[in-house]
Amino acid sequence: MRAVVVDEVRGRPDVREVADPTCPVDGVVVRVMATGMCRSDWHAWAGHDEITFPHVPGHELAGVVAEVGAGVGRWRVGDRVTVPFVCGCGRCEWCRSGNAQVCPEQQQPGFTHWGSFAERVALHSADTNLIALPESLDFGTAAGLGCRFATAYRALVGRARITEGEWVTVVGAGGVGLSTVMIARALGCRVVAVDRNPEALALAADLGADHVVLADGSDVPDAVADLTGGGSHVAVDAVGDERTSADAILSLRRRGRHVQVGLLPPVAGHPRVPMDRVIAWELDLLGSHGMAAADYPDMLALVAQGLLRPDLLVRRTIGLAEAASLLPGLDRTTAAGITLVDPAH
Ligand SMILES: [Zn+2]
Ligand SMILES: [Zn+2]
Repeated sequence: MRAVVVDEVRGRPDVREVADPTCPVDGVVVRVMATGMCRSDWHAWAGHDEITFPHVPGHELAGVVAEVGAGVGRWRVGDRVTVPFVCGCGRCEWCRSGNAQVCPEQQQPGFTHWGSFAERVALHSADTNLIALPESLDFGTAAGLGCRFATAYRALVGRARITEGEWVTVVGAGGVGLSTVMIARALGCRVVAVDRNPEALALAADLGADHVVLADGSDVPDAVADLTGGGSHVAVDAVGDERTSADAILSLRRRGRHVQVGLLPPVAGHPRVPMDRVIAWELDLLGSHGMAAADYPDMLALVAQGLLRPDLLVRRTIGLAEAASLLPGLDRTTAAGITLVDPAH
C-alpha cells in the first residue's frame, strides 16, 4: 500500500510503498476513505509521544472494512465504519463500564501502531471500538468526527455537563475549537471564541459564536468577563499551551468548569496553572481524552437530525503527498477548519 512514512523524529515525511498491515485476531483492516490532519499528528512527528520509527501517522479515519479477524463477531467486509482515536482493549473494567477512552491497554492508530495516512490501517478490538456509519454520513464528515468533533462533544457533554443558557469560552478556533463552538451553540449555550487568527474567528462567528475575541496580546480574561457579565460558566482550552490554558481558566466566573482538551505534553516542563484562582473561586479542572465508541450514538443522532453539522468544518481535501509536505508545519498553520486526506486523491 501507499503511505506517508516518517523515518525518524522530525524526519521529512515521505510517501512510498510499504507492506499492508496484518489483521489483528480481534480486529480488522480498514480501507481508508478519508482521514483528518490534526495537531496530534504533529506532536507524534515532533517526538512528543512514544513512537517507534519508521512510523505512519493518522488517527481520524473513516473507511470500509477490508479484512476481519477470526475473533470478531460484529463486523463484516464491506461495512462502513469509523473509530475513536483511543481504542480500548474491550476486556478491562474501564472498557466494560463504557470508558474505553481511558483504557490502560489502549491502542491508538497513528501512535501505538501505524495510522491512517495510508491506504489501509489495522484496528484492534473491533467489537469494542468500531462505529457503524449511518448511510446519510459520508466518509469525509465521519473522519472529522473521529477525533476533534467527538472530543469536543465529550468535553462539553460528558465532562463539563453544559446546560442551556450557560456561557462557554472556547480558546482556539482550529478543528476542535470550532467543533466546540458548534456543539455548544446547538445545545443552547452562548459562546465566546478566542483565537489569534482573524480568519479562524470569522469561521467561529459563522458557526454561531456570539462573540469573538482576538488574542493579540491584550487581556483575554478581561474581555471575556466584560462580554459575559463576570466570566463564563465553562471554558475549553482547545489549543494546549500554558498561555491559552491560563486564559481559559481565568475567563471563568466563580465555580466555573475548565476542560483541558488541547494536548500539553511536558516538553519544556509542566505548564504553570493559576491554582490560586482555582482554589479561591472553586473552579473545576477537567481533563478530556477523546470519546469511547459506546458514547457515539447520542452524538450521531444529533448529526443525523442536522442539529450538528461537522461537514461545515471541512475546508479542503488533499492527497497523501500534500499531507506529507504539510505535516512538519502543522503547529504553525493558520488555515482554518479541518483538512482531510483522501489516500486515493
Ligand atoms: Zn486528532
Ligand atoms: Zn480496556
